Amino acid sequence: MIRITDILDKAQSYLSAEEVEMIQKAYVFSASVHQGQVRLSGEPYLTHPMEVAGILVDLKLDAATILTGILHDTVEDTVATIEQIEEAFGKEVAFLVDGLTKIGKITFGSQVEKQAENFRKMMLAMSSDIRILLVRLADRVHNMRTLEFQTAEKQQYIAKETLDLYAPLANRLGINWMKVELEDLAFRYLDYETYNELAKRVAKKKQQREKYTNEVKTIIKREMDGFGLQGEVEGRAKHFYSIYRKMEEQNLDFDDVYDLTAFRLILDSDKEKECYEALSMVHALWKPVPGRFKDYIAMPKANHYRSLHTTVIGPYGERVEIQIRTRAMHEWAEGGIAAHWRYKEKRAELGEDDEQIRKLRELLETQQELKNPREFMSNLKLALFPDEVYVFTPRGDVQSFPRGATPIDFAYGIHTDIGNQCIGAKVNRAIVPLKYQLRNGDTVEIITQAGHHPSKDWLKYVVTSKAIAKIKSWVKVEERTKSVALGRELLEKEFRKNHLKFNQLIKSEEMKKLYEEYSVAALDDLLALIGYGRVSAKRIVHQFLPETDRAAGEDTTTKIRTRTSEQAPVGISLTGIEDVMVRFAKCCNPIPGDEIVGYISRGRGISIHTTLCPKARDMDPERLVDVQWSIKEKHTYPVDMRVVCRDKKGILAEVSSVISSMDTNISRAEITTKPDIEAVLDFRIDVNDLNQFNQIVSGIKKLKDVIYVERVRKQ
Ligand code: MN
Repeated sequence: MIRITDILDKAQSYLSAEEVEMIQKAYVFSASVHQGQVRLSGEPYLTHPMEVAGILVDLKLDAATILTGILHDTVEDTVATIEQIEEAFGKEVAFLVDGLTKIGKITFGSQVEKQAENFRKMMLAMSSDIRILLVRLADRVHNMRTLEFQTAEKQQYIAKETLDLYAPLANRLGINWMKVELEDLAFRYLDYETYNELAKRVAKKKQQREKYTNEVKTIIKREMDGFGLQGEVEGRAKHFYSIYRKMEEQNLDFDDVYDLTAFRLILDSDKEKECYEALSMVHALWKPVPGRFKDYIAMPKANHYRSLHTTVIGPYGERVEIQIRTRAMHEWAEGGIAAHWRYKEKRAELGEDDEQIRKLRELLETQQELKNPREFMSNLKLALFPDEVYVFTPRGDVQSFPRGATPIDFAYGIHTDIGNQCIGAKVNRAIVPLKYQLRNGDTVEIITQAGHHPSKDWLKYVVTSKAIAKIKSWVKVEERTKSVALGRELLEKEFRKNHLKFNQLIKSEEMKKLYEEYSVAALDDLLALIGYGRVSAKRIVHQFLPETDRAAGEDTTTKIRTRTSEQAPVGISLTGIEDVMVRFAKCCNPIPGDEIVGYISRGRGISIHTTLCPKARDMDPERLVDVQWSIKEKHTYPVDMRVVCRDKKGILAEVSSVISSMDTNISRAEITTKPDIEAVLDFRIDVNDLNQFNQIVSGIKKLKDVIYVERVRKQ
């Protein structure tokens, strides 16, 4: 139990002697009125206000706040009156204690209407002075720490309220440690089984994790020394509730949550520039995971949180989350508004100056008349979680989504089947496109049709991981189904060409013998390989030909195989398909940076076209697959280019020198001169990517006699 001397010692470090004396006085007052009261834990009641004051003094809050912490339950639970408090400790403290007393009396019903009204009352009381909210949060932290002594029913109720209201409030105020502690404690009571299981598993991996943590810390520290960056590296296990949420949201098993440890670089310098230097150091050390970098320094969070976040592939090929910040940013991240607030000189402005609180209060005040409690609840949640949108189901339940979510996210949020069969959506009773971005307060209704399937295009519009995972897995299954059918078609054709009986041979023992050779378990797997273009149908049929005919077939086989190795998949990755035979279409010569599409050609794997290629546009859409560039090493790609210019002496040399100056090889050049003084220069050059090509084009365009430059695609 915390002692008054501990509090006084801490207070002395930043408060005046008179203020410290007042704290001593409040202690005596509180001790006398709480005299004889015991908590459910059997401890003297006084321990509670003292613990609360201890939390507040650690946050280095002002004297009035500490006094309020010590006195917060006196009026509610003892014979003391607010007048007595005012007389002994002044108006300010009396005002704060009164605010807390009012909140204490508010209980929540189960009805939405009543709950909304009470939330509003409480928020209003708390937001009239930020310090009331801070004491209330400290109060809740200690009550949660000692929740085990409450009845099971109360535990559930208090834990739920903590998770719904107080943890988000702590987050909103930017007091990270409080948010984390409240979430974990609430989680423990709301779902003890899951919590316990998680805690056990995390503990089991403790030794292993500590060894790993030290290793990573040492590497980072060594690197920092090399770059002359001063600061410390922290590596800590993530809190249980965040692990749990990650598992829930991304549908992961515990063993798949690889990043249990998060690392943090806290730089001694107060220069933002060093954060970015540290970031590039980390990115040079380990490969960053694309799309995971977040710059909260350039764009701070709504609660003023600032930091750089990145995820990299660590020393064991695992994902490592790293945060980079200065010490001042760190202090803010942990203490939030309390840190901000204690640097304030003028105390009179308290509660007035903080933008977030001001907005919250505005909201509460404009909603004095509670006409629509549901709307109020969603507005309140919006004020607490500004990075999310709140929408309603047709039944009036509130659902939250990350900003940018669409009706497809909503549909998958309800149920996978609803997502899969979603064909349209109504927002506020009007039909909207599926890519519509949900807005606060929207009522969303999903239109489904049995037998309907998700589309690959949806991946462009969804933001929730559940929707992404479900759509991807469906696309994967679908692509496989297509490939099996395609493989069967190709194989059947090839058998027929060689006058072999397909239907018979396909079920034969000889066929089964091939499974092992191609490391597949079933016929469909083998057919899929053929469909994907990884195995040629000819090669399979070859095995069934009589010896004498084999020689003839041998040739073709080798040819195909040579082509495969020559045109090994360079820098292409396909959604849901691996190890495919890939080649670049000769008609449009795609280069990295172009938008591309893959076409499953019969028995020749996948050919890559640019989406602008006229040929690709005429292709059977059933056979098109999504492909992306994934450049692992530099490679050159041919591209055709036409330069039209005035026919002047030396123009070819000028254009060629621009191309060569970009370190680019010209593999072909053709010049046609027209009588009307125009010259047409056709080049084939080898570039690394679109960017380089565009640079060359703009370099040529700068030449005085050039009329225009274009990339040439064959029709
Ligand atoms: Mn209390």
